[in-house]
Amino acid sequence: MRLEYDARIDSAYLFLVDKILPGAAATTLNIDPSEINGHVNIDLDSAGRIIGIEVLDASRLLPAEFMKAMLSQPGHPCPVCGFADLHEPAWANDEPSFEICVSCGTQFGYQDAEPDLARREERHLQLRAEWVEAGYPWASITIPAPTGWDGRRQLAAMTPRSVSPTA
Ligand SMILES: [Zn+2]
Repeated sequence: MRLEYDARIDSAYLFLVDKILPGAAATTLNIDPSEINGHVNIDLDSAGRIIGIEVLDASRLLPAEFMKAMLSQPGHPCPVCGFADLHEPAWANDEPSFEICVSCGTQFGYQDAEPDLARREERHLQLRAEWVEAGYPWASITIPAPTGWDGRRQLAAMTPRSVSPTA
């Protein structure tokens, strides 16, 4: 089970299966319960099983502790080095997580403490260049790198736009 949250439109999508491929949601039930003045969409697969639930106006309708717990599950990418398993989004709603990336050592909210998104991204590029320059070192001294970990490969797997040309 996984929750994806889009803060811009305050919409939450709860995945009851790992992945919903295009077309897998055969039926969508639109439920507009007037009692809660909200919109809930339930996606069913072709066998009639519920595979996902979308909740609009999510921050009002979903318990805050549920959202927090779901969104703090591992699996968030590091914007500096591409490490895929941060416990929380590095930044959400312009709020840093203050988590330290075990891979590159960046602490979000300190090294990249820029309130402005564009400047923050610039700072991430800078931090990445420093990490590349240093030879892709694993940063954490308490948590060992995963078996077969390769910083260069990890960075190369990031979206092309964000890959340093010197990598
Ligand atoms: Zn990192």
